[in-house]
Amino acid sequence: TVKTRFAPSPTGFLHVGGARTALYSWLFAKHMGGEFVLRIEDTDIERSTQEAIDAIMEGMEWLELNWDEGPYYQTKRFDRYNEVVDQLLAEDKAYKCYCPKELLDEIREQQMADGVKPRYDANHPKIIAANAAATADSPFCIRFRNPKEGTVIFEDKIRGHIEISNSELDDLIIRRTDGSPTYNFCVVIDDWDMGITQVVRGEDHINNTPRQINIYKALGAPVPEFAHCAMILGDDGAKLSKRHGAVGVMQYRDDGFLPHALLNYLVRLGWSHGDQEIFSLQEMIDCFKLESVSKSASAFNTDKLLWLNNHYIKTAAPEYVAKYLQWHLDQKQISIENGPAITEVITLVGERCHTLIELAEQSRYFYQDFSEFEAGAAKKHLRPVAKDALALALVKVEALEEWTTENLHAVIAQVCEELELGMGKVGMPLRVAVTGQGQSPSVDAVMQLIGKERVVTRIKMALD
Ligand code: GLU
Repeated sequence: TVKTRFAPSPTGFLHVGGARTALYSWLFAKHMGGEFVLRIEDTDIERSTQEAIDAIMEGMEWLELNWDEGPYYQTKRFDRYNEVVDQLLAEDKAYKCYCPKELLDEIREQQMADGVKPRYDANHPKIIAANAAATADSPFCIRFRNPKEGTVIFEDKIRGHIEISNSELDDLIIRRTDGSPTYNFCVVIDDWDMGITQVVRGEDHINNTPRQINIYKALGAPVPEFAHCAMILGDDGAKLSKRHGAVGVMQYRDDGFLPHALLNYLVRLGWSHGDQEIFSLQEMIDCFKLESVSKSASAFNTDKLLWLNNHYIKTAAPEYVAKYLQWHLDQKQISIENGPAITEVITLVGERCHTLIELAEQSRYFYQDFSEFEAGAAKKHLRPVAKDALALALVKVEALEEWTTENLHAVIAQVCEELELGMGKVGMPLRVAVTGQGQSPSVDAVMQLIGKERVVTRIKMALD
């Protein structure tokens, strides 16, 4: 059965690039009815932190990219890596290398000076001499004996046929002098032990793949399929980074995006299914194919993400939006206890909002009274001439028995008619009076949701 994984190194938060890789890996597994594994690649003890592990999992959970297995931690698997190192040593597929770093640096410099591609060469006379001179207590690392002949060939699910000659690959260090195993080695043992059938990862690892395939073969392990995703670029064509704005998934939460909008944005960033733009989660799962992932880099476009976010704010179930809006309401200390159901506010106001921050701000007047009207709007619409309209509206509103949008609509129409005023001359002052601002959805519907008591108080305040 199909099993994929996401294998982040916990050195920072979950980046949108990592999230997209995780999404593709997850979607492929779900599409195939398979499983998805989370593995934390924390062998770089200097750079890995618990905060980063927590942040990555928080990002995955927020996106609801749930894992079926794990999280596994590489640091808990050192015994296993050592066991395989010993096995390779016993089979002479790996060897101890005593060559000191200074000598390697010296050889590298010489190679560069000679215009040769710098690489480790086990047959270099100085390296042979260094190894021969080693004593029992000389420090050593372990190197994998890479085949000298032949080529490594694989069919990347995204990039197609890839071929590289073994003469290009040197003898990789699989365990450092300090005893710690290296990435290229651990990843093979892990993917093998965990039964990973498809490795979906960033293109930055494509040069590692042939080396890893040689290790699989030396171990007699089945070689998984590989799919390398292209990079995500900023709007200036450079690799997406902090200076382009938000890159961490949780920053998008903070900036007011719905997880589904971000998922929909990320799935389309470098993958397509005809010209469909909007995908439910089930549609993503049903339609996803690694073969349709783009080989070329994609540019991140915040406007498109905002467009999608607006789409989901206005079309998703209000309960879903409410679940994520709550955090923003909390940030703004807007309590929704005293006022209409938040789902009704979302239905009314959501259409005009591109982020949940805007939506939270536009929800405020349904729950909180204000002591001042927005200056510009008040200056324009609460002029003395508007007082008559407001005063008459107040009388009629107070007399209303059934507090419905239709009745409120009728009240406004009556005021217009009786005072011979246009719709704007009544609606706008009322809007500013009850919302405190110059913009809102249809004022009758807004008044209906705000409720009679607050509407009456606020019109009175505007008349003062
Ligand atoms: N830990 C690696 C990274 O975060 C990914 C390794 C892999 O997917 O094979 O870049």
